[in-house]
Amino acid sequence: MRTYRYLEDVVTLECDLEKCIGCAMCTVVCPHAVFRIEKKKAVMEHRNLCMECGACMQNCPTGAITVEAGEGCVRGIINELLGIEGPCC
Ligand code: SF4
Ligand code: SF4
Repeated sequence: MRTYRYLEDVVTLECDLEKCIGCAMCTVVCPHAVFRIEKKKAVMEHRNLCMECGACMQNCPTGAITVEAGEGCVRGIINELLGIEGPCC
């Protein structure tokens, strides 16, 4: 997978561990492998790689994940089509 470079600490992704049941669905659906499971809880290992697509939030069975799905994904796709390197959100 091509590696994108994102701005640090601007992503809106949050995970409420009180609600997390460790089902690992977020690790399955995330295209950037942001999550991993540790001790039956989701860990945001690569939070800055999140492109705010919203797939994890839509598929989390307990509503533990919140993210403001924005334009980061769209901009990343357009940049890739145009051959532009660099931050995409
Ligand atoms: S999908 Fe939700 S409940 Fe399942 S591991 Fe991820 S955060 Fe936890
Ligand atoms: S919003 Fe998309 S990229 Fe970000 S953690 Fe969820 S599935 Fe992964």
